[in-house]
Amino acid sequence: MQTCDLFVIGGGSGGVRAARLAAESGAHVILAESQHLGGTCVNVGCVPKKLFTYAAEFSEAAQDASAFGWSQAQSGQLNWPQLRENKNREIARLNSVYQNNLQNAGVQIIPHRAQISGPNTIAANQQEYQAQKILVAVGAQPARPRIPGAEVGVVSDNMFHLEIMPKRAIVVGGGYIALEFAGILAGFGVDTTLCFRADQPLRGFDSDLRRIAANEVARRGVVFKTGKAPEKTEESGKVKKLHLAGGETLEADLILFATGRRPALENLGLDQAGIAPNEKGFLQVDESFCVGGNVYALGDVIPTPALTPVAIAEAKVFAARAFGGDKQAQMDYENIPTAIFSRPNMASVGMTEERAREKVGEVDVYRAEFTAMKDGLPETGRRSLVKLIAGKKDGRVLGAHIAGAHAGEIIQGFAVAVKMGATKRDFDSVVGVHPTTAEEFVTLR
Ligand code: NDP
Repeated sequence: MQTCDLFVIGGGSGGVRAARLAAESGAHVILAESQHLGGTCVNVGCVPKKLFTYAAEFSEAAQDASAFGWSQAQSGQLNWPQLRENKNREIARLNSVYQNNLQNAGVQIIPHRAQISGPNTIAANQQEYQAQKILVAVGAQPARPRIPGAEVGVVSDNMFHLEIMPKRAIVVGGGYIALEFAGILAGFGVDTTLCFRADQPLRGFDSDLRRIAANEVARRGVVFKTGKAPEKTEESGKVKKLHLAGGETLEADLILFATGRRPALENLGLDQAGIAPNEKGFLQVDESFCVGGNVYALGDVIPTPALTPVAIAEAKVFAARAFGGDKQAQMDYENIPTAIFSRPNMASVGMTEERAREKVGEVDVYRAEFTAMKDGLPETGRRSLVKLIAGKKDGRVLGAHIAGAHAGEIIQGFAVAVKMGATKRDFDSVVGVHPTTAEEFVTLR
């Protein structure tokens, strides 16, 4: 039986980082991944999604071009097979970068599915391994709603490999993935309907951001069906039908269920190590990411924000505590910035206005809603939003929210300020970069 210090199950963002860092600290590490290295983010998530978002933005640029003096600028027709193949080439390049990085760090890669077979043992490819520590970093997978005929719809994983681009699509859900794909599909020229059960998209986000998300995504051609839960899906010939609560039926060539994700913990042999997911399907961990005994877990299988940089940060803490000799290393979940790569982008750091009022009582709210310079000449009516929430007593900035071009890029820098405890007065003391959207953050009155 081969032995190791750490056996990592899952080669996604969290697993790969943990494996590399542990190996660089001198541990003997084995990592098992049955699919492509890089996990959801690299293969069927952040990376290909962002490439598709760039592709979708060209149609908007072509529409706006005449206002900037370009004659006959046209986005033409999307060559979907070409985009898909170019994307596949880029992903294959990243897969090999991940492989090289792991191998250079001395990690042994097993390209097979692994299962825990005992408190310290793992089985993969008909071989047994003994590990001092086992790290479960298998991530999550898309969850369809439990309605009759749900298999008629596709999930986000399938969107990256579609044979043909549909003419009409229904996207079910009002979260990150639904908004991002609604923007991508509409940008590709697909008649897109976004259908979710709440009144506004992005539950849990700041109310102004939710409102502007609804208005501005719709302005880019997405039809909204709100307040309606999906009840049943069926197929008749090539037409897919989605029946909604209340009796309405929508038809399209493709239905995408973007209705959340759940940890991919089936058939992992967790019971062999005496551990089990909680009632919501997550593994509960302590501050060193230990589930119990010698089993550890991080990333989308634990109930922390399901974001790649969070999994990577958790991996750093895990490796520092387990192999780097730093028993004090701590994961800090405060003020994690996040962006939705919808059209337009939405991004946030810190508290929503609602949460800030609940938590600190009196707050000052600063808000600017405006036409960004680039949207002026084409007279599209597009609006951007910049919003700050500060404590009334001490002026500390508690939350920053933005909707508009490059919101994800902009929020990253402001997240440093919020994390450092900057006050509204600190923001005011900074000279703006003109003319930008970001300068609104330092000129809010
Ligand atoms: P989200 O949790 O963001 O959104 C799920 C949506 O599906 C919500 O609108 C929810 O509605 C709806 N929903 C859930 N169950 C049902 C159901 N049974 N019937 C109808 N609607 C339902 O999940 P996503 O799948 O969009 O993304 C998963 C996670 O992945 C995100 O939370 C995020 O952490 C991460 N992610 C991050 C990205 C980024 O950083 N840019 C991009 C993509 C994903 P309701 O609100 O009513 O519950």
